[in-house]
Amino acid sequence: MDRATQLYEQYKRTKPKLTIDGVEYYLLEGDLLLSDLQLQVYCLEQAEREATAAEQREGLVAMATPDGKIVRWAPGKALSYVVVRSTFPDEPSYARVVQAMRQAAGDWEGVCGVKFLHLREQDAGQQPGQARPLFDVRYHDTQGAFIAVAFFPNDPVEQRHVFIDPSFFRTDLFYNPIGVLRHELGHVLGFRHEHIRSGAPADCPQEGTSDAINLTEYDPKSVMHYFCGGIGTQEMKLTEVDRQGAQAVYGPPQDKFQFFE
Ligand SMILES: [Zn+2]
Repeated sequence: MDRATQLYEQYKRTKPKLTIDGVEYYLLEGDLLLSDLQLQVYCLEQAEREATAAEQREGLVAMATPDGKIVRWAPGKALSYVVVRSTFPDEPSYARVVQAMRQAAGDWEGVCGVKFLHLREQDAGQQPGQARPLFDVRYHDTQGAFIAVAFFPNDPVEQRHVFIDPSFFRTDLFYNPIGVLRHELGHVLGFRHEHIRSGAPADCPQEGTSDAINLTEYDPKSVMHYFCGGIGTQEMKLTEVDRQGAQAVYGPPQDKFQFFE
């Protein structure tokens, strides 16, 4: 059995399998949802990387295409979203997610040239003629399989969801829920996990780092670093190193410019 098949069989056996809105996914790295086909590609890439493992990997980690180009949204594109009210069990949980999304999105807008746009009038449902949002935020009970999950810019359009598990609302856990959304929006912007890099402690989840480009030096306090191996942070704030990495991809914040046409 080749290495990729071995990994595929192993992950199929050991990783949580979730069905969300009728689609089956495997849960990798704690908050990445992969379809069966995506899991096969992930394993191929991981096997390829293992074969060339000597190479050092540093910094905030960008998603990259197979030919080495950084994956990002088009310049000036508003990253529009809705928070689907009908999926939430009650008004307070919906309102908390609306508020946390606003704050997490605003934090990214403050460090690099991205713009999120909450189409709040569509949270209750889309009216004919309204522009479709880029993605939606939905409540989905996975019994704590994850706190929240997101997607990457190059994922298929039908996977452009941020899912929020009920554990997001627990008050007895150590993480900051706004930090969780800052982390998830980092994935939406195309950033991968910081702790998949060579400098991270061995007991952090070490999974595929193929199709990844390092933008800065290794940052144990990065918003994209899990709390693992005694490092990472529970607040998941954007660090100075994150800011440098994010600007390397998206440029400075848009409010630093006066745009002319
Ligand atoms: Zn993550």
